[in-house]
Amino acid sequence: MAQIIEMFLGDITTLKVDAIVNAANKSLLGGGGVDGAIHRAAGPKLLEECRTLGGCETGEAKLTKGYNLPAKYVIHTVGPIYFSTQQNKAELLARCYRNSMKIAAKKGFKSIAFPAISTGVYSYPLEEATEIAIHEVRTSLFLYPKIEKVIFCCFDEYTFQMYQNKLR
Ligand code: ADP
Repeated sequence: MAQIIEMFLGDITTLKVDAIVNAANKSLLGGGGVDGAIHRAAGPKLLEECRTLGGCETGEAKLTKGYNLPAKYVIHTVGPIYFSTQQNKAELLARCYRNSMKIAAKKGFKSIAFPAISTGVYSYPLEEATEIAIHEVRTSLFLYPKIEKVIFCCFDEYTFQMYQNKLR
């Protein structure tokens, strides 16, 4: 089975995939950035389901339905906050990608889209975050041959350029 990594410049809430990944916070009760956009586009039922999940630890991931989104499901993951006392931030960020891919594989999803986790409000340096994202996704694709397509969704030109350079 052929597997591909694609890039998309724009809003992740427009993507019709099996799952989009949300860069959430530990409460899973919504926030700014991509989290806010996902909750707005999915509608209030998403928050209702999120309330039942009991939050999420950094590096972990939890699944909900997509409600009004074109994506069938949302995988909520919590990236590390760069300027915090958390240890092993690179490992925590790697786990976000790994655990999201693991859920996708377990659920039999064929397509999944990721935002640039932690690189917004959480301030993870973009170049290092991009290298981690690509490395973890490539490793997971190897582990999970039934996942056919991973989309790196970049919200701005600068992020898009970074992924383009690192993917070659
Ligand atoms: P974090 O708190 O993990 O840093 P942010 O939402 O602040 O999460 O930012 C993560 C990335 O998501 C940033 O690159 C930001 O530009 C991007 N982003 C913001 N809104 C959207 C959106 N609607 N679709 C895709 N990416 C988005």
